[in-house]
Formats: sequence, structure tokens, C-alpha cells
Amino acid sequence: MEKGQQLYEGKAKKVYATEDPQLLIVSYKDDATAFNGVKRGTIAGKGVINNRMSNALMQMLEKKGVPTHFVRELSERETLVKKVSIVPLEVIIRNISAGSFAKNYGVEEGIVFDEPTIEFSYKNDALGDPLINEYHARALKLATAEEIETIKRYAFRINDELKAFWLSCGVTLVDFKLEFGRLEDGTIVLADEISPDTSRLWDSATGMKLDKDRFRRDLGGVEDAYQEVMKRLNERMQAL
Ligand code: ADP
Ligand code: UDP
Repeated sequence: MEKGQQLYEGKAKKVYATEDPQLLIVSYKDDATAFNGVKRGTIAGKGVINNRMSNALMQMLEKKGVPTHFVRELSERETLVKKVSIVPLEVIIRNISAGSFAKNYGVEEGIVFDEPTIEFSYKNDALGDPLINEYHARALKLATAEEIETIKRYAFRINDELKAFWLSCGVTLVDFKLEFGRLEDGTIVLADEISPDTSRLWDSATGMKLDKDRFRRDLGGVEDAYQEVMKRLNERMQAL
């Protein structure tokens, strides 16, 4: 499948049309941003890792019955996906306190919750992706009540699967962000990516951060951390 016109360049990926109007090609960049684009940099090799990791995890989720946009990996940075109309909600699941949860509610990082939490942000860069609830999402017509129910059901199932998978790699899944989209017939599928850019991943033994927080917080060893989680995922995938 050939890349057609570039439709969009985002912070981490470029999106291209293909000859099939129902399919897109996403191309993962090494560019990294944080704090709504205020902090910028590059993480060498990140695009390759995020592409491969996202594809491996989405294929695993498909097998477990979660529909995704994944079609086929085309190269180390490029993947063919089903074109969706993105539901403009960032769906965040948390198993352990960290990041904005710790900051907003005045608690330390690392508190293990009895059950996972879910929250939604309105995906709107100009507004800084504000936190909203389901009633706001419906009032703004971002999604129907039925779509929100489907999204919540999938999000918690995805958490169960990813948590177990990462645990088997010696990695604790702290929190992550998902995006969903609608196919032409209205079916809701998981879209965008699942990677160390969009998840918090802590080494289960040492608590070492193996995700984008190393970039956000200038902790150093960013590339090594991405390589390390990818290595663990590969070893585990081969054993499965
Ligand atoms: P951002 O837009 O936040 O800077 P990216 O650089 O990752 O993010 O750009 C990828 C864009 O493509 C995002 O806006 C994302 O919502 C969108 N997207 C992801 N998967 C699909 C898909 N299957 N169909 C259409 N758009 C998608
Ligand atoms: N996240 C993301 N994109 C965003 C905001 C958050 O992928 O625009 C991910 C982030 O990597 C983390 C989880 O969602 O795994 C929760 O992020 P949080 O709300 O704590 O925000 P942050 O600390 O990134 O400001």
C-alpha cells in the first residue's frame, strides 16, 4: 500500500491517505512534546518502538475481542490502519496515583487503587485538553450515551489485558491514555497508539520509570528506558 497525500502532522505522528478511502497510513516520528507542546525534543528511535509496541499490543487486544484500527505493519515506522472519525475524548485509566492525579488531588505518587479509575479529557489542544465528565461529553455532543458506555467497557477490558501482560514482563502499568474512533458504520474501535508516550510503566522490582516521564521530568536515560520496555515486550511475545 502506497502513501498518498499527507493529511495531518501531529506532535508524534504523520497521517497519510491511501488509495483506499477507508484506510490511512500512520508514520511515527521521534519528536517528543510535553505540557501541551511547551516542552519539545526528540527521543532517538522512539518512532520505531512506539509503532512496533502499539501494533503488538493492539494485535493482542484484537485476539482478546477488543476491536482496533490496526490492519498491517508496513515498515518499522509505518502502519496501515482503518480510518476512523476520532471521538474527541482522551480516555485515561489509572491503577496507581501519578502525574496530574497526584498533583490535582494532593496525594503522593504510587498509591495503589483498590479498583481502576477512568476519566475523560476533551481532546482540544487550544483549550489544553480540559477534564470533563460524561454529562459534559454528551452536552457537547462529543459522543452518545451508548458510545460512552462502549468506550468505558472496552477501556476497563483493555486495562485488565494490558496490566496482566505488562506484569508478566516485570512492568507495572500505572496509567495510560486511549483514543477511540468510529468506523463508517458507527462501530467503535480502539485507535491512535499505546506506547511509553501514552502510558506510565514502572519496573515492578525497582520502581524505575520506563516511560515518557523520563523526558517530561528530565530524568535522563530516556532512550534506554524505551529500549528496555520494548526488549521486555519482545521477549515476552516470543515466549507466548
Ligand atoms: P496529536 O494530534 O495529539 O499531536 P499525533 O501526533 O499522535 O497526535 O497524531 C495522530 C493523529 O491521528 C491524532 O490526532 C489521532 O487522534 C489521529 N488518529 C489516530 N488513529 C487514527 C485513525 N485510525 N483514523 C483517523 N485518525 C486517527
Ligand atoms: N497522557 C497522554 N496524552 C495526554 C495526556 C496524558 O498520553 O495528552 C497519558 C500519560 O502519558 C499518562 C496518562 O495519560 O500515562 C495520565 O496522564 P496524566 O493525566 O497524569 O497527565 P500528565 O502527567 O501527562 O500531565
